[in-house]
Amino acid sequence: MPINEQTLESFLSGNLSVLDEIIGTDASELKNILNSATISGMQTSEILNQVSVASSASGQRAILNTRLNTYSRVATNTMMKDAPADTKYVYVGPIDDRTRDECLDYASAGPLTEAQIIESGWAASLVDGGGINCRHKWEIASDEGIKLFEGKQAQQVIQNKQGNINLLSMAGKHSRLKDATKWAETNVAKKVDFSKTDVGVANLINKQLKELQSKGIVIDEILPTRKSKELFSVSAKYLTIGGTETSIVQSIKFKYGINNAGNKKRLNDSIRRLNEKGIIKNGTVESIMTHEYGHILDYINPIDTLTSPSNALNKLLSDKFKLNKLEILTKQSQISGTYILTNAEEQFAEMYRLWKENKLIEEFEFVGDFFNSLRGS
Ligand SMILES: [Zn+2]
Repeated sequence: MPINEQTLESFLSGNLSVLDEIIGTDASELKNILNSATISGMQTSEILNQVSVASSASGQRAILNTRLNTYSRVATNTMMKDAPADTKYVYVGPIDDRTRDECLDYASAGPLTEAQIIESGWAASLVDGGGINCRHKWEIASDEGIKLFEGKQAQQVIQNKQGNINLLSMAGKHSRLKDATKWAETNVAKKVDFSKTDVGVANLINKQLKELQSKGIVIDEILPTRKSKELFSVSAKYLTIGGTETSIVQSIKFKYGINNAGNKKRLNDSIRRLNEKGIIKNGTVESIMTHEYGHILDYINPIDTLTSPSNALNKLLSDKFKLNKLEILTKQSQISGTYILTNAEEQFAEMYRLWKENKLIEEFEFVGDFFNSLRGS
């Protein structure tokens, strides 16, 4: 069914009061423009341009455009039903920085048949375009239709957006989980699964791991874990030669606990509980992140095949303080929380964190030189 004057007339008479409300005195002018044209799907777009000029306030235009665009899409969609199955369509309309991602995807896809549009999971776009205020629609890929088609431009905008998403300075600033994931995959880890948390937590992880990128370090995986007590953890897989475990690290994984860091609210609640229990005193999300980063440094800096930095630091403390070691560590824990007493690895990660936060007690200040000597610190 082609869009003819009759169908347009019925649309207008049904909506004239709405149009009056929207554009006031311009309503009759609009009616004239629409009526004077020999209406086809194609020319409707041109009419819309005239309408945009005719009406004054941009907000009014947006509402009017949405209504007319939807009408225009429905009309084209009706024509699709009667057109041969191999008829191709292109997604037309202005392409710029404001164009939403869905519309960019449709436009960059090039000419498609109705079946291909539906197979791509884009059936809704046939009627709604990209949603409210959408300035786009599928149009027959005729000579006329192709003139309005900006597929190449859409591909370019997508490419620019991707570039920006992956800029190092974008770490911790993404608004979509998809983009935060892409950033992490591009800059800090080989494989990334943020699907069990929200963009707030993903941003915190990215912001911390950004440091790795500047040191040329890539970890293997960021992934969720269901271990009920885990907030975040870093684990390493060691290479085993002839049954002996050496310190040659094969892979490093950064995990977030979905029970405790499944979203930013849960994370903040978990950190509050750690503070209440005195496990970390005045601990913040940054403290936790710096601690985890400490674990990564422990794994990527083998002292020799049997010694990790956490072993080496533990020995350093034992040699220096001998029997007083526990007493001095306890003194530190009164300021920074009890987690430092857990084991050599946690002692290392906590001391690294405290060094970064300038919270090491006087007796431990000398370990700054030790941390400074580590790659990535
Ligand atoms: Zn730890």
